[in-house]
Amino acid sequence: MNTKPVYITSPLLPPLEEFVPYLEEIWQNKVLTNGGPFHQQLEQELAQYLGVEHLCLFTNGTLALLTALQALRITGEVITTPYSFVATSHSLLWNGLTPVFVDIDPVSCNIDPEKIEQAITPQTTAILPVHCYGNPCDVEKIQRIADLYGLKVIYDAAHAFGVRKNGRSVLSYGDLSILSFHATKVFNTIEGGAIICPDAKTKKRIDYLKNFGFADETTVVATGINGKMNEVQAAFGLLQLKHIDKALTEREEIQACYRRLLAGTQGIRLLEVPADVAWNNAYLPIMVTDDYPVSRDALYAYLRENNIIARRYFYPLITSFPMYRGLTSADESTLPVAQSVSNQVLCLPVYPGLAIEEVGKVVSLIHSLAEQSLKASALPLVV
Ligand SMILES: *Cc1c(COP(=O)(O)O)cnc(C)c1O
Repeated sequence: MNTKPVYITSPLLPPLEEFVPYLEEIWQNKVLTNGGPFHQQLEQELAQYLGVEHLCLFTNGTLALLTALQALRITGEVITTPYSFVATSHSLLWNGLTPVFVDIDPVSCNIDPEKIEQAITPQTTAILPVHCYGNPCDVEKIQRIADLYGLKVIYDAAHAFGVRKNGRSVLSYGDLSILSFHATKVFNTIEGGAIICPDAKTKKRIDYLKNFGFADETTVVATGINGKMNEVQAAFGLLQLKHIDKALTEREEIQACYRRLLAGTQGIRLLEVPADVAWNNAYLPIMVTDDYPVSRDALYAYLRENNIIARRYFYPLITSFPMYRGLTSADESTLPVAQSVSNQVLCLPVYPGLAIEEVGKVVSLIHSLAEQSLKASALPLVV
């Protein structure tokens, strides 16, 4: 029996003594925010690490999403996925935009590109897909549709830190991509986020937008917001960057261990990531199908009783929340795949520092619950 609960993630925290010199420098410089030296350095180092041209840091991923929509002057309707964290579609409502939900693909859990075209109306101006679990969307097909209809594409890449497809950063697709550096994500700055943008001109406009719209001391060019990342956050990110490769390797090892132990388990399906993708192992979603002897929620409760706090990401669907459920596109009948996946998914613990014994324990619990319930149902009826 575990004594301490095991959560699905635990923040990547570099050794405290390594952080002290950064703080000393901040105290010495007395520059706390507004694009200070650590902010500039982190923008450069991250762009280089991720293999992208330009990057604008933000105080969190949600403000990055809100600002990305502002930067491209998106209006009217935006096609998006119901299978995500609620911040994805909240960013649309905050901008006075109408989300149009389309169903997902059952294998990738990402927006189904085949369903996008039929959702386009004269009011549609953009597509907001999510690289769910860091597994890339069908970026080529989405771009073809966007080009054909003259739409912008903004990727919510909150899960996709460091992910590459055919050697190219997945963050370089579409018009803009946003990252989240929240404590629960693969790379964190405690709270934080970024917009990946293709050129210096766009970066400049986004930099105005995250600083109230100021273009210079006396000129305000847009209804900007305060989205600036501060120096303590940026310094934390610089230190974290030194540890990220090791953390990603650990994630890969843990994921591989789960896959080995879970292979062939009846009724448990794992996420399939295409061979041309260098994944970041951000999550460990399993699908508890009808072939598993008990329901997903029964497994979830059983793991919890044993101090394994799995999470149902993403359940419930965004479309079930009160601010969305009245929309025509939120109707259950139009989103059967998302409904089904949402009712089957369970994310298991995966993070650097998770002991291999804990992985073994989680898998044993999944197996033992199945055995127990099969035995119970096989009992002969004695009258
Ligand atoms: C975490 C997350 C966000 C929000 O990022 P914050 O940095 O927490 O504001 C947005 N979209 C998705 C898919 C996320 O997982």
